[in-house]
Amino acid sequence: MSESSAIPAATVTKPIDGWLARFTIPDEERAFRDHYSAATLATTRIALIAALALTAAITVLDWLFMPGYYVAKTAPLRIAAVLLPLGFALGTSYVPDARAMFDKIVAIAVTLAGVATVAVGAIGVRYEVGFELLAAMLATSFAYLAVGLRRQPAAIAGGSIFLAYVGLGLAVSTSMQDFVYSCLMLALANAIGIYAGQRFETNARDLYTQGRELERLSRSDNLTGMPDRYTFHQHLTNIWRQARRDKRSVAAVLIDVDHFRLFNEYYGQADGDRCLQRLADLLGERVRRPLDLVARYGGKEFSIALYDPTEEFVQQLVDALCERVFSLEIPHNASEGSAVVTASIGAAVVRPEEGGGPEQLLRSADDALYEAKVRGRNQAVVYNPEWLDASRTRVPGIAL
Ligand code: C2E
Ligand code: C2E
Repeated sequence: MSESSAIPAATVTKPIDGWLARFTIPDEERAFRDHYSAATLATTRIALIAALALTAAITVLDWLFMPGYYVAKTAPLRIAAVLLPLGFALGTSYVPDARAMFDKIVAIAVTLAGVATVAVGAIGVRYEVGFELLAAMLATSFAYLAVGLRRQPAAIAGGSIFLAYVGLGLAVSTSMQDFVYSCLMLALANAIGIYAGQRFETNARDLYTQGRELERLSRSDNLTGMPDRYTFHQHLTNIWRQARRDKRSVAAVLIDVDHFRLFNEYYGQADGDRCLQRLADLLGERVRRPLDLVARYGGKEFSIALYDPTEEFVQQLVDALCERVFSLEIPHNASEGSAVVTASIGAAVVRPEEGGGPEQLLRSADDALYEAKVRGRNQAVVYNPEWLDASRTRVPGIAL
């Protein structure tokens, strides 16, 4: 089966290992980030609410118990650079249109809040309240572990907090020895955060990849590995919409194995399966473009969706497919019409901008398939809109 006939391999790309582990295909990386962001949304909200509540509580406690000159400097900083950005990030999480920017907003808010927390500590030293390593540690672990940031933005936030700590500490620390130890502690917290974030995100990427693979398997046919009817309908609907937009054509092809029930009864299920696999391989070879798709439509039926084909190409393709099935020379001693397995094929080509819908296209392809059977099977028919004018009706009593 050709690659284009299956669900695109891009859906199951394996992430590359290492620090920059990411999906090689940009769309896939974007899809993973959207998925990750949606999966961590609830915990991110809880973390933001907790950080807001903690900062508000400390601000109130400072106001109650700390000297007025200290509160006058630190309260505005906490409000402007911690409460407002974190509150803004929390608010954005409830605005669906802002969801695409949510990750970046959280990363910026957490960086600002962390640096401001360190700055409050530095102000504390000036007023002899003490330069707290603990606050910087809390802000660092919040960035890496609590707020659901991916490891890269988390490392940028954690690194910024560390640099702010070093810079402000150099300016205000009274004991260089204590300060150096504190810096080492904070650097260690960053290293642990990076390591944990790396492991966590690699696991998340692996789980995501496995989930996509399971989804792909559940939507493909077990016997042939081809996309199933549901996937085919989805794909046809998608290319229909794309073709309407691009003012291009779309074609649907239905392939039905002639007298397959008799084949199964005569040769048994295992040979029946093998026969279908060979036909699936043959069809897959002929479907080459990225927007074309071949699927197992039902038990003995296959379907092909084609984006922007000419009518001539469709006619050539279905005729060639009929001949190729015949030339496989799979013996069919139980057949009423031919000594080898044959197929009847119906196709329809339309321009979506002229109206109708994918269901109507499939009905037309089905009418053409019916016509191929009425004409004696082992042939291909492309739907002719003039049939409608002639008020054609199906011949009653023919078993299809
Ligand atoms: P290829 O001929 O080796 O072309 C490789 C890729 O180059 C195609 O991938 C397509 O992206 C691009 N390409 C080549 N020629 C053209 C062209 O005239 N117009 C445009 N827009 N793009 C072109 P793609 O689409 O996945 O096709 C895969 C293979 O399927 C092709 O490999 C070719 O062997 C076959 N194929 C697809 N469409 C046609 C066609 O209209 N006529 C023929 N003879 N073969 C085709
Ligand atoms: P062609 O091979 O005679 O194909 C004529 C037209 O049939 C194409 O016009 C397209 O509408 C349709 N067609 C052919 N193969 C396919 C297919 O695999 N899938 C679908 N959905 N439609 C198909 P188009 O696209 O304007 O191409 C004109 C000519 O350009 C082709 O004539 C071929 O000579 C060349 N060409 C286009 N794409 C490729 C390609 O990927 N590889 C090669 N080798 N040639 C290509």
